[in-house]
Formats: sequence, C-alpha cells, structure tokens
Amino acid sequence: MEKGKVIVIVAPSGSGKTTLIQRIKKEFPEIVESISHTTRPMRPLEVHGESYFFTDEKNFNKMVEKNEFLEWAVVHENYYGTSKVFLMNEITEGKSVLCDIDVQGADNVKDFFKDDSITIFIAPPSIDELRARLEGRGTETEEVINIRINNAKRELLRKDDYDYCVVNDDLEKAYVELKELFSRIIEE
Ligand code: ADP
Ligand code: 5GP
Repeated sequence: MEKGKVIVIVAPSGSGKTTLIQRIKKEFPEIVESISHTTRPMRPLEVHGESYFFTDEKNFNKMVEKNEFLEWAVVHENYYGTSKVFLMNEITEGKSVLCDIDVQGADNVKDFFKDDSITIFIAPPSIDELRARLEGRGTETEEVINIRINNAKRELLRKDDYDYCVVNDDLEKAYVELKELFSRIIEE
C-alpha cells in the first residue's frame, strides 16, 4: 500500500489558517488531522481531544522524555507537540495527514519526511491587517497579541522557504487556491 502524505500548513497567528483549514477539512473528509498536545490554556468553545489535547508542563515533559513527539516546540511561550505514533500509523495506512504547526515544526517534519511531506505557508496581506484580525477575533489579550505580532514578523521572513505560499487577502480567492493545491497533492 502506498504511504500517505504529510501536509503541513504553517502561518503566523491570525493569518486565517484555522478559517481555511475548517473549510479544507469539510472539502476533503478523507484527510486526517493531526491533533497536537499543548500546554496553552483552552479557549472558549475548544474541546479537549478535538482542537488539541490540553495538558500541563509536567505531563508534556514526561512525553518529551519518552520520545513520544515527532517534533515539539515552544510557540508564543507555550509547549506544542506532534504525536509520533499517531502520524506514523495514519500515513502507513495510506492516509494523508494535515498538520497545523509552526515554522519550527514544519522544518522538523520536512527533515523527517522529506518528499513525503508538503509544506504550505499562509501569509497575511500585511502586519497591520494581521493585527486587525487578531484584535477582531478577540480571543487574546493585547499583550499576547503583541507577542504574536513580533513572532509573525520573524515567521514572514521564512515565507518563501516552503513548498507553496498562499496569501490570504481575499478569503474566497485564498480558499480556491488552497483547495486546488490540496486536490493536486492528493491526486499525485
Ligand atoms: P489563525 O488560525 O491563523 O490564527 P483565524 O482563522 O482564527 O487565524 O483568523 C483570524 C481572524 O481573521 C478571524 O476572526 C477570521 O474570521 C478572520 N479572517 C480570516 N481570513 C480573513 C480574510 N481573508 N479577511 C478578513 N478576515 C479574515
Ligand atoms: P494556537 O495556540 O493559536 O492554536 O497555535 C499557536 C501556534 O502553534 C500555531 O502557529 C500552530 O500552528 C502552532 N502549533 C500547534 N500545534 C503545534 C505542534 O504540535 N507543533 C508545533 N511546532 N507547532 C504547533
């Protein structure tokens, strides 16, 4: 059986990644989503085991020691990690897996899976628009938004280092571009 592909979506926080991924998941129900572990506090409406497995630093560190993560990173001052067993099982069964991870994670996944992985960067049209979207979403404090904006400036320098880059200016246009990309990746 042919192995599945690992599709990594990476984007600065607020770029519209979650909005786009929700639609991609409905369009391609055959794609499995990797659910990360994180120490970040749960947001309203988030469900344990759906968006993330929420855990504390003590348990996260235990998982690191037991080598349970394919990759893990500190992002915006919280820990995030991708489960090795989960990802390997799915791609061995021929399923494609979607990973929503940061730039460090994308680099590590690419190093590990090489051509069996495809990395897609979602870019905001500008830093000002990114701040407006984060403020509009209203899920983070001003302090956290500032941390995310500073990280975004660094992450945007890397936008051409991935296999593809989609600019999310107009949502519909970005979605169509992403959808066509996914169709091509899955058919290959
Ligand atoms: P991320 O997952 O990258 O942090 P979200 O998908 O939560 O970003 O989007 C951040 C905010 O921006 C949300 O309120 C979302 O509705 C809004 N948004 C997403 N894409 C666009 C777009 N193209 N134009 C305007 N607002 C957008
Ligand atoms: P959020 O807290 O907004 O859900 O995610 C913050 C950032 O952490 C996003 O850029 C997201 O892609 C990234 N992230 C989520 N899970 C993982 C993971 O398992 N590994 C890495 N490296 N980054 C992750």
